[in-house]
Amino acid sequence: NTFAEIDLGEILNQNIRRCKYVKPTPVQRHAIPIALAGKDLMACAQTGSGKTAAFCFPLISGIMRELYAQRSHVGRTVYPLGLILSPTRELSCQIHDEAKKFSYQTGVKVVVAYGGAPINQQLRELERGVDILVATPGRLVDLLERARVSLQAVRYLALDEADRMLDMGFEPQIRKIVEQMNMPNRGVRQTMLFSATFPREIQRLASDFLSNHIFLAV
Ligand code: AMP
Repeated sequence: NTFAEIDLGEILNQNIRRCKYVKPTPVQRHAIPIALAGKDLMACAQTGSGKTAAFCFPLISGIMRELYAQRSHVGRTVYPLGLILSPTRELSCQIHDEAKKFSYQTGVKVVVAYGGAPINQQLRELERGVDILVATPGRLVDLLERARVSLQAVRYLALDEADRMLDMGFEPQIRKIVEQMNMPNRGVRQTMLFSATFPREIQRLASDFLSNHIFLAV
């Protein structure tokens, strides 16, 4: 029932201490070990449950091991290894702020891109390199169409507040995004889906995007 038991390694444990997290919340206690074991996950999680850390730490940990030094660019196109999709600008910025703290001194670079704001500054930020991209679906589709981001290298995908993204009408964009990944359904990509509710549409997304996933309800 401690972060040390979860064994995220010394750097991440230090960052957890820096955040003053004393012990994992229930969703963290269960989700992090499942994700570190490489399994796909669908988790029931409300705001305030600590879900952000539950999907960020496995992403950061995995990407630290994936030779992030080979962060790639081809021309002006960047190739993130991790992608976090979230419904709104506010939530994306919140995730970005937390993920930056969690990834302190790991070398893993986190960038955020959201709609409703000028794209130019986000483009400049992306050009400086990105390992984990936090994005809203509409803005990401825009970046893909401009060929400023490629999803060919994505190894870790997290969908946060998936039910809210569907309520907001983002299903077509989400499907378009996942189709651009190297392995849309199976294979090397690891996927985590977080949602507060599990209507039929969410279950359909899960069966399309996840592979032999574990369902976690805490
Ligand atoms: P979230 O559900 O991810 O939006 O997190 C809700 C709030 O709880 C955020 O302010 C987090 O920084 C905080 N938090 C997350 N995990 C922990 C933890 N293990 N101990 C204390 N606070 C936490």
